[in-house]
Amino acid sequence: MTVPSLNAGETAALTPRFSTRSRRVGASATQRVAQEADRMKRAGIDVVDLGAGEPDFPTPAHIKQAGVAAIEQNFTKYTPNAGIPELKAAICQRYSDAYDVRFDPANTIVSAGGKQALYNVAMAVLSPGDEVVTHAPGWPTITDQVLLADATPVVVRTHPEDGFRVHARTLLDAVTPRTTAIVINSPGNPTGGLIDETDLEIVAREAAAKSIWVVIDLCYEQLIYDDVSHNLPRVLQDAAPNHGVVVGSLSKSYAMTGWRCGWAVGPAPLIAACNSIQSHCTSNVSSITQRAGVAALNGSHGCVREMREEYRGRRDAVLEWLGAEPRVQCTCPAGAFYLFPDISAFLSPDTIRTSADFATALLAHGHVAVTPGEAFDAPGFLRMSYAASRDRLREGIDRLLAFVRRLERGDFD
Ligand code: PLP
Repeated sequence: MTVPSLNAGETAALTPRFSTRSRRVGASATQRVAQEADRMKRAGIDVVDLGAGEPDFPTPAHIKQAGVAAIEQNFTKYTPNAGIPELKAAICQRYSDAYDVRFDPANTIVSAGGKQALYNVAMAVLSPGDEVVTHAPGWPTITDQVLLADATPVVVRTHPEDGFRVHARTLLDAVTPRTTAIVINSPGNPTGGLIDETDLEIVAREAAAKSIWVVIDLCYEQLIYDDVSHNLPRVLQDAAPNHGVVVGSLSKSYAMTGWRCGWAVGPAPLIAACNSIQSHCTSNVSSITQRAGVAALNGSHGCVREMREEYRGRRDAVLEWLGAEPRVQCTCPAGAFYLFPDISAFLSPDTIRTSADFATALLAHGHVAVTPGEAFDAPGFLRMSYAASRDRLREGIDRLLAFVRRLERGDFD
């Protein structure tokens, strides 16, 4: 069969068209590394994968059982868009138990992960020309969601010298008349850095006085290893009752990344706007997940404590092993489950020029998957997850150290 050829006008007419919005964001660099590591694993290569942003633990048994029971009890239909009352009550109860702060279940929306909760908020409050102040090194989704909402991210830096702490003044100095929101992630991905309560209070008071939203992403809030008071929900409620939004998630603390359950708690009009937006895209979170979420939040938190202690032990062990190579500079993260070492001492204009090159070469030659700092707006760094078994972590660090020794010998010139 002969296919008739098209003239230029006809070809242009058939070219698929995409929104300017969709062209503003690409697949995240975190995903690109993961894809290459997956390809190598499928080819039978033994890759030590320290790239993942999720717990290596299984979801605790009592949570899984609640999900199974939901299926068996035919709890498998639509639920209220913003979540079942028991789950919204359990979320608020946990904030009450952990932080002695009273949140109203009516001002709570359950979403498909903290990611969707943050996305709803971005869509609800941002318009073209608006600016959002946030911090880097940081989780790229925050700035990409701002771009998807047609607004502009304004990024301030945090630094390894003080554990990547987020400072109030740095954030507030970036505020302009166009600032609509300030988004703070504490503990932060990828740095594990925190914002102090006093800094958040300063930010929240000043922001509220200018009618700027303050969104705190607390998805790693139960994974803090230092003995510090981190009662950000209370601070936000006191300092910015009409402008504060708390975003949380079951993913990291309860090893439930695949269940997709997070939430936002905030002023009623904002939650109503999030509810409308969510009702036109995903509707409610899976009914089964919601029942499992109730079990997670209302059940014993012994499993969370055990996982946290194991992460702490791994963090300390990996830091000690990495200490064998003084040119890898790594601060001790206060929370989350990542190390974020500075590897710029190994970069040179002639061989491995960037941390992205370093990560690519480490995967190709050392068979260790890590995420380059470029993915977090922090060239020169690497993110290494310690959500992996101690044996795999030891193996990964040994391979990394062997790789840098080969680099030093000029093996890759
Ligand atoms: N916030 C931060 C800083 C994250 O790193 C992640 C996931 O990696 C999330 C929020 C969202 O997680 P989820 O959508 O699984 O709740």
